Amino acid sequence: MSIASLLPHGDVFQEVKDNVSIDNVVEYYNITELRRQGKHYMGICPLHNDQDPSMAIYSSTNRYKCFGCGASGDLIDLVAKHFDLSLIEAAKLIGRDFGLQLDRPMSKEEKQRAVERSRKIKQNSNRIRAFNAAVDRARHEVSFYIRTINNTLAGGYKYYYQLSDWLGPLNELEHLDYCLGHPDIEMKAAALKEWEEQHSWYRPIIADC
Ligand SMILES: [Zn+2]
Repeated sequence: MSIASLLPHGDVFQEVKDNVSIDNVVEYYNITELRRQGKHYMGICPLHNDQDPSMAIYSSTNRYKCFGCGASGDLIDLVAKHFDLSLIEAAKLIGRDFGLQLDRPMSKEEKQRAVERSRKIKQNSNRIRAFNAAVDRARHEVSFYIRTINNTLAGGYKYYYQLSDWLGPLNELEHLDYCLGHPDIEMKAAALKEWEEQHSWYRPIIADC
């Protein structure tokens, strides 16, 4: 049986979260003593020097939150922190102790889903690469236009008659340049679209000089 045909990590985590409850885990590993308080439990937090019970355990979401040190997460995270394990080690430990079959081979459907998932990830990274390349190209061209206009304007009064023609595009180009360099992806995408629609009419302007 090859390693690749075993459950991928994401499914191991899901399997544990779906089948084991956080209060059972806390009890089983003696992580802390729980007291019921309404719909959740409270316990002394094992992750900091806690005097009063400040860790809440929520069975409904299978998560914990400490109001003393701010730590929060799910049952796997809690076991990992408590025993100083990696997340996958913690998940496997819980799986083993709670009788889950985590190293069973993937079913046909699970295999298909795994293939589909990696195909999507690959496709997305290709699309992101292509998008970033297009943004870089547009930025390069935009800054060329800005430089050319600024150089021309710096050329003095003989270009004075062109000023009104130049200033509109300059402002727009500077705005485009700003948007293309912005970390917000939607702003970038809108700016790229605008550039691709408009840059045909920038060319003759620059070609004039
Ligand atoms: Zn704490």
